[in-house]
Amino acid sequence: MASTPPGPAPVANALRGRCPRCAQGKLFRTFIVFRPKCSACDLDYRAFNVGDGAATFLILIVGAIVTGLAMWLELTRSPAWYVHVALWVPLTIVLTVILMRVAKALLIALEYRHEARLGHL
Ligand SMILES: [Zn+2]
Repeated sequence: MASTPPGPAPVANALRGRCPRCAQGKLFRTFIVFRPKCSACDLDYRAFNVGDGAATFLILIVGAIVTGLAMWLELTRSPAWYVHVALWVPLTIVLTVILMRVAKALLIALEYRHEARLGHL
């Protein structure tokens, strides 16, 4: 069985948005776009492919949260339809963007830990 490469804890590292190998360099160029490589240890982030994995999980997680809250509000308060729109559209967007950053960072950290980068098969 292959040994696990050393590195920081994936979840803590994902929450901080740091390099999966050294935990010093920043992982993101913009809020949800990866840098090409680590500024501290030169780990090539382009060798990893998180694909649509993060989006797939977020559809399920954010959908369950927002749907549950909308059903609870409708069944307990029965507000006008525009209250639902005013609440759930912004909440869905905010949750998706924030959780997308964490999910992408977590996937790249797990790919690094399990040596699942491109060209490594
Ligand atoms: Zn690094």
